[in-house]
Amino acid sequence: MKNIYLFSEAYGKDRMLLGGKGANLVEMHRIGLPIPMGVIISTNACREYLKENRFSSELKEELKKEIKKLEHSTGKRFNSEDPLLVSVRSGAPISMPGMMDTILNLGLNEKSLEMLIKKIGNEKFCYNIYQRFIQMFSEIVLGIEKERFFEIKKKEIDDKEIIKKYKKLVKDRSGKEFPEDIEEQLFLAVEAIFNSWNNERARIYRKINDIDPNMGTAVVIQHMVFGNYNEISGTGVAFTRDPSNGENRVFGEYLLEAQGEDIVAGIRTPLPLNRLKDQLPNIYEEFLEIAKKLESHYKDMQDIEFTIENGKLYILQTRNGKRSPYAGIKIAVDMVKEGILTEEEAILKVDEKSLPQILSGNFKESDLKGKKLLGKGLPGSAGVAVGRVVLSSERVKEEGSYILVRTETSPEDIKGMSLAKGIVTVKGGATSHGAVVARGMGKCCVTGCEKIEIDKGETFFTIDGVKVKEGEFISVNGYNGEIYLGEVKLDKMVLPNEFEIFLNWCRKYKKLGIRMNADTETDIKVGKRFGAEGVGLCRTEHMFFQGERIWSVREMIVANTKEEREKALEKLFILQKEDFRKILSEMSGMPVNIRLLDPPLHEFLPKKDKEIEKLANLLGKTYKEIEERTKAIKEQNPMLGHRGCRLSVTYPEIYEMQVQGIIEAAIECKKDGKEIEIEIMVPLINSVEEFSYVKKLIEKKIEEIPGAVEIDFKIGTMIELPRACIQADKIGKESQFFSFGTNDLTQTTLGMSRDDSTKFIEEYIEKKILEKDPFQTVDEDGVGELMKIAIKKGKSANEKIKIGVCGEHGGDPKSIHFFNRLGINYVSCSPYRVPIAIVAAAKSAIEEKKC
Ligand code: PEP
Ligand code: MG
Repeated sequence: MKNIYLFSEAYGKDRMLLGGKGANLVEMHRIGLPIPMGVIISTNACREYLKENRFSSELKEELKKEIKKLEHSTGKRFNSEDPLLVSVRSGAPISMPGMMDTILNLGLNEKSLEMLIKKIGNEKFCYNIYQRFIQMFSEIVLGIEKERFFEIKKKEIDDKEIIKKYKKLVKDRSGKEFPEDIEEQLFLAVEAIFNSWNNERARIYRKINDIDPNMGTAVVIQHMVFGNYNEISGTGVAFTRDPSNGENRVFGEYLLEAQGEDIVAGIRTPLPLNRLKDQLPNIYEEFLEIAKKLESHYKDMQDIEFTIENGKLYILQTRNGKRSPYAGIKIAVDMVKEGILTEEEAILKVDEKSLPQILSGNFKESDLKGKKLLGKGLPGSAGVAVGRVVLSSERVKEEGSYILVRTETSPEDIKGMSLAKGIVTVKGGATSHGAVVARGMGKCCVTGCEKIEIDKGETFFTIDGVKVKEGEFISVNGYNGEIYLGEVKLDKMVLPNEFEIFLNWCRKYKKLGIRMNADTETDIKVGKRFGAEGVGLCRTEHMFFQGERIWSVREMIVANTKEEREKALEKLFILQKEDFRKILSEMSGMPVNIRLLDPPLHEFLPKKDKEIEKLANLLGKTYKEIEERTKAIKEQNPMLGHRGCRLSVTYPEIYEMQVQGIIEAAIECKKDGKEIEIEIMVPLINSVEEFSYVKKLIEKKIEEIPGAVEIDFKIGTMIELPRACIQADKIGKESQFFSFGTNDLTQTTLGMSRDDSTKFIEEYIEKKILEKDPFQTVDEDGVGELMKIAIKKGKSANEKIKIGVCGEHGGDPKSIHFFNRLGINYVSCSPYRVPIAIVAAAKSAIEEKKC
């Protein structure tokens, strides 16, 4: 099997095989751009090498053969009077800038150095590139720190002496002579590049960017051209558009008499590209022409590296340029206006995961450099926040910026959470209370940062030996889970016009409906502004998270008798009816899915002494009475406990109160001229018998309400237990809609607690047992298969049954692509994720059409 290709042999070959850099070089060669010739070792060869941990003799032979072709095509030869020098670079199928290694000027040894000097006469230049080669090779292949070479260079000025000392350093450190044999140099360099696929920074980069760790990298061996050759030589990097604001102008930097890494390493300050117009006007014009050509060829903003050698321009690399989220949208919209892209192509170009950054800003990259990274948790809710550490929700103040750091959050913390700029929890995963609530609030949150230890007195926490006191500033990144000490500066973006234009295109192409999970009027307003088309889940228990309302829920939970419960329910009724009225009125003309109470008890029971005391005072009971009652109803496993519809089987008055609140609120709204479309949803159903029982209870209550006949409502169920999926044909005969609760469906299918599994899930991913956290991205093979069964069975009972997803996965792009393929009607997510869901749904629909 062929593993190595000369550029001219690889036209049209896949980038998975050639790597992104290699594939683009081949393409640029094909369309006649000035490219130094080279060969590409495929990703197959890298994978094979990493698997066998051996550079096979077949591969070595093939490489020798291809290098002969390269020598032929360049007219230069290794070790000859006109010596061939090459660069050896990594090039993964997906660009990982700066993550892997590069070796320049390979092909030099004592003999070829002499011949090069003889051929070109420029001794200083030749010594310089030889020194660079020894240093780079030794650093990358032999693992000798580059600082050691810098130290020699600082002290010694004679070039020959420098080379001698470099070689001595290599001998001292590696125990071997620096290799003189060029073939050996080449093989060692290729091996080092293969191995750099698994260096730590590459592994971390892949993890953050969700890149398949099994792809491997290609290696590009390319004829060297020298930007440090003379005064009409140079090197530069340019973007075809401004990567920070998307403006349509070539934006770049260059240096004359320099090699590429001089710019990257920041040793000399480069000049803005437009200065090249004065220094080398012909080259400048030629470059602009090529930049435009490349942009329209690839239909995307390009990031181009170039070198000028002795007054001749060469393009060394082009790739789609990384850009700020705002620039991403602007470039996509502009390119449609300019006729480069169709609307559909433009939608596919935008990374939906970057959208929250447009909405909430991000840390200034340049400001992160000097900051201390305290640690890393899970990205619970997107966004960034800076504030003073506060370890108790009660101490979060309205004015000022605070980051609330808690072991875990509970409804007690809601006020503190809503006032804080960001939230950090020690425990909990992507669907833990903290993450769900923070996402609902559009607030940055990092969960599961297990290294944090909060002291008992709640005055400081420690992490990896660093003590952070309450009141000290920290900066939290909800996109990647990082926590920094001190204040990191923010890059805030104003919502651009292009954003609206872009979202409107997405709305045109998507198939899935996008609803919001919203429990308050404020949520509803946010979600509507972002284009939500209905409420897919109103968690009625969350409606009590605000202010003092939680105490009425507690009163209901700890009630000993029906009478006591009814008293508590009366208070809740007044509050809920008013909330329902506001929500229904705000959502006039759109469907509103209201889920009846589903409070896993551990989220609601009073935990601390002072909470028990407060409840006792409120109810006129003793501390002991409340403590005992709390103990009595405390469950070992509340997630599988007395929650969901089970509550209504034992305490029907709870659902009766809620249904009455919903219907009476709807009657009032209707009188006010509002259009009402209600879905009453029952949680945690596992059989048709259970559903029918609860449905009858609801219907009976509704029949008793005067004026209820006027109201359009449906009664349906969540599908969030495996048994419900399997029984969906029977349940579907009774239920007017299904909504997948993928949070509970994941925890019950995998047998992993949504609140406690963070501890081992990370390790599962590292050990490749799990590919992803199933609470963030839906487990297609398990949960997904159950969903397929439920959809098929549900539709067999009722062809028109409306099906949605309201678990946290409804806002996750990867999961949305899967849901789109399932052919359901809508997904529902927190209001701040609505734009992401709109874009993801549009991309899925467009991709599906292409297939
Ligand atoms: C679910 O389980 O997916 C769901 C939406 O319900 P909750 O998160 O409130 O349990
Ligand atoms: Mg649930």
